[in-house]
Amino acid sequence: MIKKILIANRGEIACRVIKTAQKMGILTVAIYSDADRNSLHRLIADESVYIGPAPSAESYLVIDNILAAIKKTGADAVHPGYGFLSENAAFAKALDKEGVTFIGPPVAAITAMGDKIASKKLAEKANVSTVPGHTEAVRDPEDAVQIAKDIGYPVMLKASAGGGGKGMRLARNDEECRDGLERAVNEAKSSFGDDRVFVEKYIGEPRHIEIQIIADKHGNTVYMGERECSIQRRHQKVLEEAPSPFLDEAMRQAMGKQAVALAKAVDYYSAGTVEFIVDDKKNFFFLEMNTRLQVEHPVTELITGQDLVELMIKVAANEELPFGQDDVKLNGWALEARVYAEDPFRNFLPSIGRLVRYQSPQETHHVRVDTGVTEGGEISIYYDPMIAKLITFGADRTEAIQHMRTALDSYYIRGVNHNIGFLSALIAHSRFQSGNITTNFIDEEYPDGFHPQDLPAEDPIIQVIVAASIHHAYQQRAASISGQVAGHGREFDDTWVVVTKDGHHPVTVRKMTNGYSVIVDGTTHEFQTDWQPGEPLLRGNLADDENLVFQVERENIAYRLTHGGSQDDVLVLSPAHAELNALMPVKVPPDTSKLLLSPMPGLLISLAVAEGQEVKAGEELAVIEAMKMENVLRAERDAVVSSIKATTGESLMVDQVIMDFE
Ligand code: ADP
Repeated sequence: MIKKILIANRGEIACRVIKTAQKMGILTVAIYSDADRNSLHRLIADESVYIGPAPSAESYLVIDNILAAIKKTGADAVHPGYGFLSENAAFAKALDKEGVTFIGPPVAAITAMGDKIASKKLAEKANVSTVPGHTEAVRDPEDAVQIAKDIGYPVMLKASAGGGGKGMRLARNDEECRDGLERAVNEAKSSFGDDRVFVEKYIGEPRHIEIQIIADKHGNTVYMGERECSIQRRHQKVLEEAPSPFLDEAMRQAMGKQAVALAKAVDYYSAGTVEFIVDDKKNFFFLEMNTRLQVEHPVTELITGQDLVELMIKVAANEELPFGQDDVKLNGWALEARVYAEDPFRNFLPSIGRLVRYQSPQETHHVRVDTGVTEGGEISIYYDPMIAKLITFGADRTEAIQHMRTALDSYYIRGVNHNIGFLSALIAHSRFQSGNITTNFIDEEYPDGFHPQDLPAEDPIIQVIVAASIHHAYQQRAASISGQVAGHGREFDDTWVVVTKDGHHPVTVRKMTNGYSVIVDGTTHEFQTDWQPGEPLLRGNLADDENLVFQVERENIAYRLTHGGSQDDVLVLSPAHAELNALMPVKVPPDTSKLLLSPMPGLLISLAVAEGQEVKAGEELAVIEAMKMENVLRAERDAVVSSIKATTGESLMVDQVIMDFE
């Protein structure tokens, strides 16, 4: 029996584990750093222990501090979550030594799967299909070229100790192979302290599909279907779903059986994930095994009806799996979107700050929100800027996508930038909806980044109907304020002009019992809503568009409407005002094309140019460090530097002028 679990993690995954432990009647201990004093995971745990300063290298990654917290609280088990120490064999070993149960796999399995060459060899031995290639570290560039020629270009050069997409290089010819090898070796050496690099075939048009497995200590190993994780940005998953739109039952079984064979080859127990890369002809090849709970595990939970954390805890407590392979039934479709504090319009730059307003979508049978933040909380520079995982469930893929659309529309976040607009665009994309996706999807569909014009197209008439209804509600409320002098009460017309970004729309609005009837261009639209002035979310139904959700704010005299990831200010005016409004000069935004502005708050590390210097498009101008990342600012076109307005070492604000051009 496990009585008290210490969660060696933070954020949403710590909260996720605590929830299941509480459901099972097990006590929980949270650990927290200076940056997490007021974090949700600390608040909901039964106990909490301070483990050090904000940087994770001084807190969440310090094994001794965590062991001390275990001693102090008498926890008898540890769940590591994902990231941090979750795949650290030394940590699992240290717990073993202290007689504390590690809620994860055996140490030997972590070690074997932590190395790409070793795990690939293991997979080959277990008859698991692997990417064609060479499972030895290459000796030198000429050796690499010879191997690449044998395999046939294009090839992938991979660091054996690699992870998180680091130390990986595509090579299409001898030259790229020599060059890529040097860079992969250097990256591997500096990031992992291990310079072994191997060569394998590059799989074109690849999909990333992974199999969830769960195994107990009594020899039972079961696969629980797949997850499709092909929507990635820089090898980081953005959207995940289960099942995969690409798999049929035979392929699912074949992949599942290989995943189980691999797990058995290392006497695996607990939850684990076997990742495969799948080509367009449905050949699948083993990539790596993750010996922990994955970020995207909820999609599997929703279609199998199982709680993976509960199963992990039971397995760690030596229980047998409560079901066998034949009992695993996949039902419905689940989709997960990773909601990040980042600015998709500024190359996905992390956005730190306080969540001034934060209201997540209501959780239902169709919507699940896994989060570690609350209103007023802070997204800090020290950790992954994830706000939440938004998971939706439907009878089929179309329904899951529809629920996701509504849930994204109702996700109310103010104070930090976020990627809701980007996620809305992805799920509205016809190619995503068709299921024809590969890991290149984002690069192919947004080759020069994500721009406001990539947001899903809005129906302007819907915006007009919504704004007119909102205006009616406000007018009616003003007219019904008590104490107005008899005969001089406020009255209002119901004929207005709605001014949106694409023009003036005359409307006539009438209140109905369950909403408004709005006449636009001679057509009557019945809009059902019970929205009241002041509510941040307006929900409504139109004839052929049900479950519409708009976020509503009043911004001066405009209504600010947020929907489908776009934010628009809409005016509702009397016809006379509208006529005059049309005569108002349009405010032209200042011309910033001759300025280099800091895209983020950060430190100006270096300037690569001097006053009077000619620069070519693409040339480096300056480097700014923000959130421990160096960001190179480059010239957008050929220009001559006129004057430099900032100095190296200066702390820059967002949009601060760094230099201007002639
Ligand atoms: P990491 O451990 O760094 O995450 P993986 O081996 O899991 O590295 O690969 C990460 C991603 O890189 C995969 O999801 C896939 O998109 C791509 N990738 C890896 N190996 C290949 C390959 N041989 N051919 C094509 N793409 C690959």
